[in-house]
Amino acid sequence: MTTKIELIEDIITEIKYLKEKKNAVILSHNYQLPEIQDVSDFIGDSLNLSLEAANTTADIIVFCGVHFMAETASILCPNKTVLIPDLEAGCSLAATINVEQLRRWKEKYPNAVVVSYVNTTAEIKAESDYCCTSSNAIKIVNSIPKDKAILFLPDMFLGSYIASETSRDIHIWPGECHVHADMRIEDVNKKLEEVKDAEFLIHPECGCVSKYLYQKDDIKNEQTHILSTEGMVKRIKESPNNKFVIATEVGILHRINKEVKNKELIPLKEDAICKYMKMITREKLYQSLKNNIFEVKVPEKIANKARLSIERMIEIT
Ligand code: 13P
Ligand code: SF4
Repeated sequence: MTTKIELIEDIITEIKYLKEKKNAVILSHNYQLPEIQDVSDFIGDSLNLSLEAANTTADIIVFCGVHFMAETASILCPNKTVLIPDLEAGCSLAATINVEQLRRWKEKYPNAVVVSYVNTTAEIKAESDYCCTSSNAIKIVNSIPKDKAILFLPDMFLGSYIASETSRDIHIWPGECHVHADMRIEDVNKKLEEVKDAEFLIHPECGCVSKYLYQKDDIKNEQTHILSTEGMVKRIKESPNNKFVIATEVGILHRINKEVKNKELIPLKEDAICKYMKMITREKLYQSLKNNIFEVKVPEKIANKARLSIERMIEIT
């Protein structure tokens, strides 16, 4: 009788075989399940995944992440096959704005520059001037002439963080991610009490970010950093400290624990889990590679417009 471990090993072997045979690459976001991270060719944040997709020589990209990430890969690589193992893997933040809402907002501010966070649909990107990610948002906003009004969407916590860091008057869409919005200043303060000597690494989508900015002087500044997921990995590798409180989705802990030894990682909230990211399982990844499902293809007209906003971002980054 075949054991469960043998079955898992068979699937892993098959995934590796299919990948080679089809010249496919597996790109995974930092929040993916350990079983997905462990068979991936590349793991990263939204920005690095886009860059990796844009530069790959593979014919097929299997995107283990959420739908807007696979769409971004498809926009950047219109001649490649982009697959997502589960089409239901969406994003609660991207779902907070649709294209009609954006068009109405733009009508109110006809001269404003639209900066959209990467967590948006391809249609929204096509209506935007710039795309940005959590690792380059400040740089993108700083590159826009000072006399221009800015519409930033869809994350209100990231938006208020950028407004505060750039001192720009930014109109912010009131969207939020259900996972990060739930990480509040009370949670940070409680952890600061419990864990005295740790660095705090906070994702800018977190609900605690704007309140944190007000009480910045009370918190030892050098102890806290607001970073993208990739920024967190980098900071932990470079920092002389050994203890870190991580305020983002807990999937990232697997990657850091594999890449960095002898550092203690404490999640701000152990239940900070993105159910959409976790929809991608090893079995679904295998089926995806085997049967070329599910293809994510952005219609050419939308892709051509959306690409401009992404390429503008890449140029500035
Ligand atoms: P990063 O770009 O920092 O990886 O964030 C993506 C995301 O979806 C955060 O929830
Ligand atoms: Fe979207 Fe939030 Fe999940 Fe990130 S963690 S993919 S923003 S729902």
